[in-house]
Amino acid sequence: MTLLIKDEYPKKLLREDGKRLDGREYLELRPIKMEVDVIKNADGSAYIEWGNNKIYAAVYGPREVHPHHLAKPDRGVLRVFYRMATFSVFERKRPAPGRREKEISMIIGECLEPVLFLELYPGTSFEVYIQVIDADGGTRCASTTVAALALADAGIPMRSLITAVAIGKIDDQLVVDLSGIEDKAGQADLPCAITWFNNEFSLLQFDGVMSVEEYHKSLELAYNALKTIYGLQEQALKRKYINIQERVLHSQKAVEEGGDNQA
Ligand code: ADP
Repeated sequence: MTLLIKDEYPKKLLREDGKRLDGREYLELRPIKMEVDVIKNADGSAYIEWGNNKIYAAVYGPREVHPHHLAKPDRGVLRVFYRMATFSVFERKRPAPGRREKEISMIIGECLEPVLFLELYPGTSFEVYIQVIDADGGTRCASTTVAALALADAGIPMRSLITAVAIGKIDDQLVVDLSGIEDKAGQADLPCAITWFNNEFSLLQFDGVMSVEEYHKSLELAYNALKTIYGLQEQALKRKYINIQERVLHSQKAVEEGGDNQA
């Protein structure tokens, strides 16, 4: 968690031993854990812990559009609400959604739209609520990743999953998955997301300075990191069905044993 004000940012973000301040290698991701089906009242949901970030996503739809005037006669609408809890950062965040939250909601929506078949759902809406409980850099990437998982958990037809990660530059070194302090005190931040059905980047933002060669290298680093994170998304989805299968087998066994005892 970043507790520092700008003047107190560390001068160096790489340690004497060449590691990052949190002990990671340049290309190492923070630990990532994901789980689906975590909110019973939602049509689909997912939770992610990515380093110190903790984020829930809940999906509803297709359902009636409120307010009605937002409905489109020829296609469904996707509405994304990214919000940070007031207690998710060290200094209390104002509860009302600010410009940053509106911008991040918009870019996550633009990122998710290409994988959905909105043209098949005229007059309806899909709503994705993202709640950041704890924030420490890279929340837009973690939110995009967990939102895609929640859409898949809802059983909404998708062309593919989407995965996101930020590449950055700190102390003249390209690194994968910026932490909060690296994001704030580093030289560049390049959040990106990929849609796997066409292998295209559906999010590419840039803040800071790097050379064209570094930019190309960053995309290569991102691609490798994204493949790893995609594997974790797949595992989280599969785990849900493995758990269901185990529960069904367990209850079948209980019924059979009950039958045997009666016989
Ligand atoms: P991202 O979370 O996608 O990296 P930013 O670069 O805007 O987005 O923010 C970087 C980090 O700064 C966030 O992850 C969070 O830890 C912190 N942060 C963002 N907004 C606030 C805020 N209003 N107050 C304090 N910290 C914030």
